[in-house]
Amino acid sequence: MTKFLTIGLPSKIIAVGLNYTDHAKELNMKLPKEPLIFMKPSTSVIRHLEKIVYPKGVKRLDYEAELAIVIKKEAHNITVEKAAEHILGYTCLNDVTARDLQKKDSQWTRSKSFDTFCPVGPHVAVGIDSANLKIELFLNKELKQSSNTKNLIFGPKYLVSFISKICTLLSGDIIATGTPSGVGPMKIGDEVEVMIEGIGSLKNSVTGERT
Ligand code: MG
Repeated sequence: MTKFLTIGLPSKIIAVGLNYTDHAKELNMKLPKEPLIFMKPSTSVIRHLEKIVYPKGVKRLDYEAELAIVIKKEAHNITVEKAAEHILGYTCLNDVTARDLQKKDSQWTRSKSFDTFCPVGPHVAVGIDSANLKIELFLNKELKQSSNTKNLIFGPKYLVSFISKICTLLSGDIIATGTPSGVGPMKIGDEVEVMIEGIGSLKNSVTGERT
C-alpha cells in the first residue's frame, strides 16, 4: 500500500539532464553514456499551489515535468543493489528553466536556480514501484507532455548509486530524474500541473515579479 508523507526542505536537489529516450529523440541527440547532472538550490523549492515567479528579464520560461526521488537516509558510495534502502519514495517535480539563459550560459546554474524554480509535491509516495508510471504535464489543462517512467535511460537506483559516489546524499535530498519530450514555455497567469500515476498532481501558477 502506498503511504503519503509531507516533504521537508532538501539540503540539495540534484537534477539529471536528458534522461528520457523520447526526449533524446525529439532533440535528435545520442543517448548519454552516463548521467549529466546539475544542481538546483534548496531556495528554489516551492510547494503544491505556490506560485512560480516569472523573473524580470527572462525571455523564455519553460516547464519540465519530472519524477523526483526523495532520499530516506544518508547515502555515500552506495551500490545499485543497495540503493533502494536509501530511497524514501517519489514525488512530482517541475524543473522550471529560463531557457534563454540556459542557451546563453555554458553552466546551467543561473537558468535553473531562480527562487520558485523548483515546485515539488504534493507529497512523498512511499511504497510505490517507480518502474512503469505514466507522467504527464498539463498547461492550462491542455496535455503537453506525456510519457512513462519506463522510458527513463538511467533509473532511480542507478542514479542514487551514481550520485552517491560524487556527493553524500542526505535524508530529504531530492533527485530530479529528467523530463520527457514536449517541453515548452509558460507565461504569466498560466496554470501548470505535473501528474504522475500513483503519486499525485502538483499544481502551480505563474505570476509576475513583485515590483
Ligand atoms: Mg530537467
